[in-house]
Amino acid sequence: MSSNDALWAERMSRGLRECCSSAPDSRDFSGTLRDPSHARRFVREGVCPKHGLLARGALALAASELVTNAVLYGAPPITVDIGCHISKVWLSVRDLGEGLSSLVPRTPSEGLGLGLKIVDQVSEEWGSLTLEHGSVVWCLIGTGVMQGLPERSDL
Ligand SMILES: [Zn+2]
Repeated sequence: MSSNDALWAERMSRGLRECCSSAPDSRDFSGTLRDPSHARRFVREGVCPKHGLLARGALALAASELVTNAVLYGAPPITVDIGCHISKVWLSVRDLGEGLSSLVPRTPSEGLGLGLKIVDQVSEEWGSLTLEHGSVVWCLIGTGVMQGLPERSDL
């Protein structure tokens, strides 16, 4: 299974609805200290305009922390994926780092580094996966939009 397929399977296993108002977006970063700031701008500008506006701040914060971790401890390219699932937005940051889990705790059971504590606080759910090449940390951030209710046309 490719890394993209593995990530998509992880999203779909949570019963998330796909948004019809925005397409998933992805951007690669080369592993420089400017990446966290560029990643913040990418997610703020790329978030779903219909559902994701209230989640922008938390999304930018989480992207910044996860990309910082990847720059410091991972290996480029660093790929940031975002996608809208109406009541939640998906964010994942993957890189080609090997053996990262020994440097930085990446799962809740192993304790949290400072960046992951922030991600833990702003997201409803998060986790990590070892991919065919590298690894990924993902999180889901609530948008404040209720699934199943009629969508407001003025948002
Ligand atoms: Zn949306």
